[in-house]
Amino acid sequence: MLCEKCGKNNATTHIRTIVNGVVREINLCGYCAAEEGYTSIGHNSLAGMLASMLGDVVTPQIASEEVRCPVCGATFSDIAETGKVGCAECYKTFNRELLPYLKRVHGSTKHSGKIPNRAPLTVKEDSETVDSLKLELNRLVSEERYEEAAIIRDKIRKKEAENE
Ligand SMILES: [Zn+2]
Ligand SMILES: [Zn+2]
Repeated sequence: MLCEKCGKNNATTHIRTIVNGVVREINLCGYCAAEEGYTSIGHNSLAGMLASMLGDVVTPQIASEEVRCPVCGATFSDIAETGKVGCAECYKTFNRELLPYLKRVHGSTKHSGKIPNRAPLTVKEDSETVDSLKLELNRLVSEERYEEAAIIRDKIRKKEAENE
């Protein structure tokens, strides 16, 4: 059998993946398999070439062994990732895996706990009124601090535009 990717070399690697619950089987030569990242050695091309030369012993790094919910097809890692259980059957399927998780979230339906408290990103400048900025502008001009004055002047223009 020839490699399904390059069609040149003999397929030495049988890869089975499950994508969205659909089993996909593909036969690749060692080089293509390595190129696709299906190698126990690593992702670099030298390892890939080596694997191809040796006729390779490739261990597909695929989660095909992962248990799936028979109803919705979710894996536990799907659930862990999204924090959502696909269906009622998931509770049965992943009972053992979900148990510590369920205990942890028990009594709390809030999701906000996951979001770290952050300081507001924007600093409010509402305390700066146009009048106070104009005073500041006059002061800076009188001190010949024109660069700073220009910044203040822009602020005043912006504020005046907002107020219109
Ligand atoms: Zn190939
Ligand atoms: Zn399910």
